Amino acid sequence: MPELPEVETVRLGLERHMSGHMVADVEIRRNDLRFPFPENFSSTIRDRVVERVERRAKYLLIRLQGGITWLCHLGMSGRWTLLGDEIESTPGRFANGAPVGSGDGPHDWVVIFLENGSRAVYSDHRRFGFMDCFPSAEQETHKLLKDIGPEPTPDHLTPSQLAEGLRGKRTPIKSALLDQRVVAGLGNIYVCEILHRACVSPRRKASSVAGKSGVSNRVERITAATHDVITEAIDAGGSTLQDFRGVGGEEALGYFVHNFLVYGREGQDCLRESCEGVVKRIVQSNRSTFFCSSCQR
Ligand SMILES: [Zn+2]
Repeated sequence: MPELPEVETVRLGLERHMSGHMVADVEIRRNDLRFPFPENFSSTIRDRVVERVERRAKYLLIRLQGGITWLCHLGMSGRWTLLGDEIESTPGRFANGAPVGSGDGPHDWVVIFLENGSRAVYSDHRRFGFMDCFPSAEQETHKLLKDIGPEPTPDHLTPSQLAEGLRGKRTPIKSALLDQRVVAGLGNIYVCEILHRACVSPRRKASSVAGKSGVSNRVERITAATHDVITEAIDAGGSTLQDFRGVGGEEALGYFVHNFLVYGREGQDCLRESCEGVVKRIVQSNRSTFFCSSCQR
C-alpha cells in the first residue's frame, strides 16, 4: 500500500509532467473505483489547465484553473503512469509493482489526455482508490479533509501540536499515531520506525506520553523522529524519480530503499548501537507492531 512518502513521490511526478498543461480529454472506463466518480467528473476537469499538484495526508490534490480541485487517493494499488514522446514514468512504483500501465491494460481505468499530446493513465487492480472534484474554496469543509491533523513534516508538525493531540487519549501511543486526526498520513510501518527511533514503547498510553502539561521529553523525541523518518523516506522516494523509456527501462526506475530498523524484523537483534535487545512483534488494533522492549520505554 502506498504510504505518505510514496504518495509524495507520485505527486512530484505528476507535478513535473502535468502542471502548466491543459486536460484536453478524459476517458473513464467504469463508473466507480472504491466510490462512484462524481457526477460530471469528466466535464468538470476537461479543458482546465493543471496549475499545480499538491498533497494533503495521502490525498493528491490536483489544482485546476478556475478554482477546482481534483482529488485522487491511490487506495491499496493505485498508480499513475505518464506516457509521452519524452516520458514514460510511473512515479512511486514499488519494486514488486505491476507492469507499467500502457493505457490499454485491464486495470487502466482513467486516461487523461493532455494538450501537449502526453497521457496520464490511472491503473488500480484492487480498486480501493477513488477520485473526487470540488471547488477549492470548500476544502476546509470537505468531509475527507476537514478533520485531518498536521502533516508529519518539519514545517508542519510541532511538539506542542503533538502533545495536544495525545493528551487525554487512553489508547496506546502506537494507535494514537495512526489516528489521522492526531498526525496526517502516518502508516503502520513508519509508526513502528518512529517509536523505535524515539525510544518510546508502542504500548505506553498516549496520555502518559503527553504528560500533564507542556511538552514532555517523549513528545519531543517522537516529533523529531517523525520529521526524520518521513523526510528520509520522502528523499529516498524522490531519488527514484527518473523518467525512462524503452524496453528494459523499467529496471532503471529503481524503487524505494527502505532500511527498516524494526519493521518486519521479529526475532532479530535490535540495531540500536549499545542495545542488546531482540525485536518483538505484538498485535495492536489488528496491526503488527515491531519493537524492542529493551530500549523502547
Ligand atoms: Zn533496542
